[in-house]
Amino acid sequence: MTTDSPPRIRERRDDLVVLRPQGLYCPPGDFYIDPWRPVDRAVITHAHGDHARMGHGHYLSAAPGEGVLRTRLGPIDLQSLAYGESIVHHGVRLSLHPAGHVLGSAQIRLEHEGRVWVASGDYKFMTGPDVDPTCPPFEPVRCDVFITESTFGLPIYRWRPQREIFAAIDAWWRSNVDNERASVLFCYAFGKAQRVLAGIDASIGPVFCHGAVEPLNRAYREAGVALPATTLVSEVTDKSLFRRGLVLAPPSAAGSTWMRRFGDYSDAFASGWMLLRGARRRRGLDRGFVLSDHADWPGLHAAIAASGAERVIVTHGQVPVMVRWLSENGLDAEAFETEYGDEAEGLAEPSADPAATEAGT
Ligand SMILES: [Zn+2]
Repeated sequence: MTTDSPPRIRERRDDLVVLRPQGLYCPPGDFYIDPWRPVDRAVITHAHGDHARMGHGHYLSAAPGEGVLRTRLGPIDLQSLAYGESIVHHGVRLSLHPAGHVLGSAQIRLEHEGRVWVASGDYKFMTGPDVDPTCPPFEPVRCDVFITESTFGLPIYRWRPQREIFAAIDAWWRSNVDNERASVLFCYAFGKAQRVLAGIDASIGPVFCHGAVEPLNRAYREAGVALPATTLVSEVTDKSLFRRGLVLAPPSAAGSTWMRRFGDYSDAFASGWMLLRGARRRRGLDRGFVLSDHADWPGLHAAIAASGAERVIVTHGQVPVMVRWLSENGLDAEAFETEYGDEAEGLAEPSADPAATEAGT
């Protein structure tokens, strides 16, 4: 991987989104997108902590994400828009469109004096049977300038169909039931945990959730997403039930005293980073399931191509690689230096050096 930094944005007079110390800023609209410092008006792409932060005066988000946003941020001044609904603010027409990342995730479309920009936040690009049942799929939105993530922007990142991943999780769980030991699956508490719940075969045994996961399950159910029944781990009195159970817990629970109640258990991690065998091995996990809520390398290119944009700005993840690839393919590509990405997939990126990743399964 190259170590030279990508070309920094050359701000142009009529840019609809520019970089400010507080975050991405829309000058004609006078609002921010997913700002990392407190501002008066914030438009939020989704409720992950690196995009939705506390302390803003006013929030705007997609209506399906209202519950998860309030669950995570508490009482906030929040206005929501249905997907596709638009408002005009200081002459900027703003609308939100599904990003397919987690419940309520949105791409932000901005239109001003004939120019259209789309800030996509985090997204995944899935089609056919691979569509995530917990949120509507990514909707391609035509634009002049597309602002994209690049969390998994390396050619090694190519996801297997999700049915194969869920079949592998089910098989691991069944085998643990046969051996009378608990199945503890670490996964990010918001988004990934609910996608796992929607994808597994809940007839195998009871499903238990950590206290960080259960409030999000509730918000998903309230938003109309069908999830199997779950029980809060701390409410279980008969601990023998764990031996047949699947336990969903955030990565922070690994190695904590909270784990003692399960007795004999097998542990696993569901994350895109599990493509890197070293990431699993370093954590001493029994299994790693490669399941990501971000676009893989082909998915990033498909989403960018579907936008029709001739200018692309990359915000986080594998920025230099993506900028270079786009430039080589004839696009006007640049980077914004943002503070996104530290909550992606529930893990810090294990290694930026693809030569050290042992990928290939
Ligand atoms: Zn995210």
